[in-house]
Amino acid sequence: MERTLAIIKPEIVERGLVGKIISRIEEAGLKITAMKMVRLTKEQAEGFYYVHRGKFFFHELTSYMSSGPVVVMVLEGEKAISRWRLLMGATDPAKAQEGTIRKAFGTDIQRNAVHGSDSSSSASFEISFFFSGMELHA
Ligand code: UDP
Ligand code: MG
Repeated sequence: MERTLAIIKPEIVERGLVGKIISRIEEAGLKITAMKMVRLTKEQAEGFYYVHRGKFFFHELTSYMSSGPVVVMVLEGEKAISRWRLLMGATDPAKAQEGTIRKAFGTDIQRNAVHGSDSSSSASFEISFFFSGMELHA
């Protein structure tokens, strides 16, 4: 069993499409074991995305991610990290495969609907960034 962190990004919350994303997750057989809605400060978004500090898109990305509430979730299942990445699709919605969430709901390379951890070490960091042990359900 693996755990990964998923985020439903601000434009999806704004557009009222949270339920559609959650349905995709549940239909794929990934179990939601923690979930909440939060509004990040710019500083918190910078801390979450620290690996991208210095990249050309860092300021815009962290401004966007702190522009409105997001829904953060822990997804659990066998190979949850790679399964969630596959379901999300490529970073750029224009290049994402048919049937992926980013293809269906992404606006552009920045406003690409969802986030997912890319490794077990990033999953550990990202889950503990948002959730304490007592918020993680079985
Ligand atoms: N991003 C962007 N422009 C780029 C690359 C990335 O705005 O050229 C944003 C986009 O929202 C992406 C996030 O930065 O989801 C993190 O980038 P990463 O390369 O980690 O992509 P992901 O893991 O989300 O597919
Ligand atoms: Mg990434």
